Amino acid sequence: MAEVSLRKIVKAYEGDVQAVKGIDLEIADHEFCVLVGPSGCGKSTTLRMIAGLEEITSGEISIGGTVVNDIPPRDRDIAMVFQNYALYPHMSVYDNMAFGLLLRKFPKAEIDRRVKEAARILDITVLLDRKPKALSGGQRQRVAMGRAIVRDPKVFLFDEPLSNLDAKLRVQMRTEIKKVHQTVKTTTVYVTHDQVEAMTLADRVVVMNHGIIEQVGPPQELYHRP
Ligand code: ADP
Ligand code: ADP
Repeated sequence: MAEVSLRKIVKAYEGDVQAVKGIDLEIADHEFCVLVGPSGCGKSTTLRMIAGLEEITSGEISIGGTVVNDIPPRDRDIAMVFQNYALYPHMSVYDNMAFGLLLRKFPKAEIDRRVKEAARILDITVLLDRKPKALSGGQRQRVAMGRAIVRDPKVFLFDEPLSNLDAKLRVQMRTEIKKVHQTVKTTTVYVTHDQVEAMTLADRVVVMNHGIIEQVGPPQELYHRP
């Protein structure tokens, strides 16, 4: 069964801009799916509709077999990672990672277990007491991923998470994200305009253009197509 399913998804913004023009997409359990395409092609809108941050004009989205059209973001089984890390500046790394679980009333011991396990996976255990301002860009990105991992959601949604990093760090973090996915195996939908990033990370690449899906396939197939 598909973990994420988009059926005839349309998004029309005010002024009749059709950002997404009726796309169908099935994303399998554990799959790393990358949406790629030029700026303005509708990638971010699609991701935000899966997250519930953007209303769907028509069509149906399910996550884990449940139609989520009317389910608010907080109650969807997803965690999102953005390019601006959105870390709380006054909180330690530990508290940043724990916060989403505290809000959801998880027991302290369970929170502690999850935060430490995620810190181990991301190799940031020694940073747990630091404040975000004392971290490098790459370290902040890891903490942002840590906040997603501790939630243990059905789906990770990444919106251009690396676009604020310099080229060298971007390459390094790609490897890191791939490694994390191989460890936690969470179904992932990842948006980028960077083709190399898409090819490196994806099990399957979805090429979007002007609000439609132009091509879908594993990176090696797309790469060799003329
Ligand atoms: P991408 O992520 O591929 O760069 P977006 O999904 O951000 O593309 O945008 C797709 C189209 O929708 C663009 O034409 C963009 O200008 C338009 N758009 C995005 N957000 C809004 C909005 N809030 N209001 C009106 N138009 C929007
Ligand atoms: P999570 O995805 O971990 O649940 P969210 O980003 O959804 O975290 O934010 C959780 C809540 O925290 C939201 O209600 C949000 O308004 C609130 N919030 C946002 N910024 C801050 C901040 N700097 N300090 C404390 N709470 C914040």
